[in-house]
Amino acid sequence: MSWEKAVRRVVPYVPGEQPQDKNIIKLNTNECPYPPAPGVRKLLESMKYEDMRLYPDPEASVLVDALSKYYSVPEDQIFVGVGSDDVLSMAYLTFFNSDKPILFPDITYSFYDVWAELYKVPYKKIPLDDDFRINFEDYYEEKHPNGGVIIANPNAPVGIYEPVSKLEELVKHNRNSVVIIDEAYIDFGGESALPLIKKYDNILIVQTFSKSRAMAGMRIGYAFGSKKLIGYMKDAKFSFNSYTMNRPSLDLGVAAIEDDAYFKATCAKIVATRERVKKELQSLGFSFPDSKANFIFAKHYKVSGEELFLALKKEGIYVRHWSTDRIYNHLRITIGTDEEMDKLIAFLKDYLS
Ligand SMILES: *Cc1c(COP(=O)(O)O)cnc(C)c1O
Repeated sequence: MSWEKAVRRVVPYVPGEQPQDKNIIKLNTNECPYPPAPGVRKLLESMKYEDMRLYPDPEASVLVDALSKYYSVPEDQIFVGVGSDDVLSMAYLTFFNSDKPILFPDITYSFYDVWAELYKVPYKKIPLDDDFRINFEDYYEEKHPNGGVIIANPNAPVGIYEPVSKLEELVKHNRNSVVIIDEAYIDFGGESALPLIKKYDNILIVQTFSKSRAMAGMRIGYAFGSKKLIGYMKDAKFSFNSYTMNRPSLDLGVAAIEDDAYFKATCAKIVATRERVKKELQSLGFSFPDSKANFIFAKHYKVSGEELFLALKKEGIYVRHWSTDRIYNHLRITIGTDEEMDKLIAFLKDYLS
């Protein structure tokens, strides 16, 4: 059919399954196993439904102000959106318009090539080394002239965190394109590259409420950068959809930010569980890169990733598995509650013996 010639064809990103059965132990999409801060619940219960007839504030000021205070970043250096997926997609649209390819690792968040395809941005995947580490020099413009760089830190799904000093070198060697650092998992033990926005006008730091703040269902993401960089992103956003974020998410996001003690305690609990689970998995014959995220990317020395994935699924324990060559034998296991992880370990112990 002739109209089909003009269709923008894309192979979409495939998110992890969202089963409706509440008895399933869900360790497949890196959600937080604990509820959002108590203040979020209180606010949600007292929300005025009449206000829903009004458009939300297009500037999302209450949320931007709260982020500004919390992170000590001026308001005009903050961009907010419908989850970091929306923020990242807007960053692609705004910054990646060169004929040169954008660069990202061969194993990373699998949305990066989908957006490149959607926006018709040329891209080049740079292989991680045999230990799943990023060799930063591969991304320097002297070596690979590029139209931009996007790195997840900690990297997904491998979990490895790289120090800010390496990211700074990366930006120093890429002053002619925008460098995006996707920090979706930074609150589980890494140190944010946020201070770099003061020194370099071409670095964008992206974070989300979906993992560490337990609000994946509300869809809140944000980014920090130079005033110039954020200004360009806002221009693109206001040319696309003025009202991306809905009213409840703006206010509930503020409530989540305001309870810092709860946030820190939740992250600490997840980190403690992660470190315990690392030991348990090791004793069962699994190996994995050292993770600073809320998941572990593990491979068993004997049993294939696919077999374990299917056996766990049958047991009602969902983890993530990819059929890509290089990571075929790996499982990405989200850190759940201690109770959930005990059930996982007990099943694996039994299955592997
Ligand atoms: C989860 C995730 C995101 C997207 O999260 P949102 O829910 O859209 O905020 C972005 N990048 C990475 C690496 C992720 O794992």
